[in-house]
Amino acid sequence: MSNLDRKPVATLCGGDASTGPVRDLLTGRNVRLGESTEVRRLLPNLGRRMVGAWCFVDHYGPDDIADEPGMQVPPHPHLGLQTVSWLHEGEVLHRDSLGSLQTVRPRELGLMTAGRAISHSEESPRPHARLLHGAQLWVALPDTHRHTTPTFEHHAQLPEITAPGLHGTVILGSLDGTTSPGTTYTPLAGVDLTLRQGSSTKLPLEPHFEYAALAMTGSVDVDGVALEPGAILYLGCGRRELPMLARTDSSLLLLGGEPFEEEILMWWNFIGRTEEDIRQAREDWMNGARFGEVHGYDGDRLAAPELPQLPLKPRGRMR
Ligand code: MN
Repeated sequence: MSNLDRKPVATLCGGDASTGPVRDLLTGRNVRLGESTEVRRLLPNLGRRMVGAWCFVDHYGPDDIADEPGMQVPPHPHLGLQTVSWLHEGEVLHRDSLGSLQTVRPRELGLMTAGRAISHSEESPRPHARLLHGAQLWVALPDTHRHTTPTFEHHAQLPEITAPGLHGTVILGSLDGTTSPGTTYTPLAGVDLTLRQGSSTKLPLEPHFEYAALAMTGSVDVDGVALEPGAILYLGCGRRELPMLARTDSSLLLLGGEPFEEEILMWWNFIGRTEEDIRQAREDWMNGARFGEVHGYDGDRLAAPELPQLPLKPRGRMR
């Protein structure tokens, strides 16, 4: 998915890591993407920019798109990050400048490593399922790997974890020794959890990771805080386990990782380190250089927004 905001503000990430467990409930904001799609943007958030290397989280749907085009995101560029496409309902057809053409279905991982440059489009195929429900997430690449060769991975089979009343899928990174086949560049956790109403569980965590949770459906108490769709609960570091109690049948995403110590500069669909990185990437996209070409998408590619006047400065992970 693209950040379709026509006036994107420079996103300022960073600061000090939380040194211990916290329960910081942060409300997302509704953002319109194109004609018909509205998403809940949970990261970056006014209260927090990153959780581990996770730096962008949009939750969308469930939307009834039976009589709608659904997702229609024209070709656009990325730089310095990985995109994670994750669905609960529906399907998304991914095309990219490497020539990938892949339908991503519920509980399959679509993982695109932009590295030094890639472009892609995402669309609801025709015909498509009635419901579309999912999340689009970005992972910042560390400086050592941000110029890596672009790749696209599709993993239809992901490792699962089970406990009474709980079913989990490890999307990216690891939880309790269970590891996703998706390529990572920093220590991470991205886990989809389904809980049956009334089930109570304690999830084992990595104490040197920071974590956050968001509800995809239902209502679940996470460390005693009622969590519903539309908010993200930042949990901090220093936890060995996470108590959860499902008030209803519910599903949530648990995101975590080693606190990302580098300052990054995030603007539109790019993550760089300097204003020059961003300016050059924008110019290259507008001139048709570097980001390749997406074939087969029925429509024009996205134009980059204007750069803001103010200097763009890299920031750390909190604000
Ligand atoms: Mn995208």
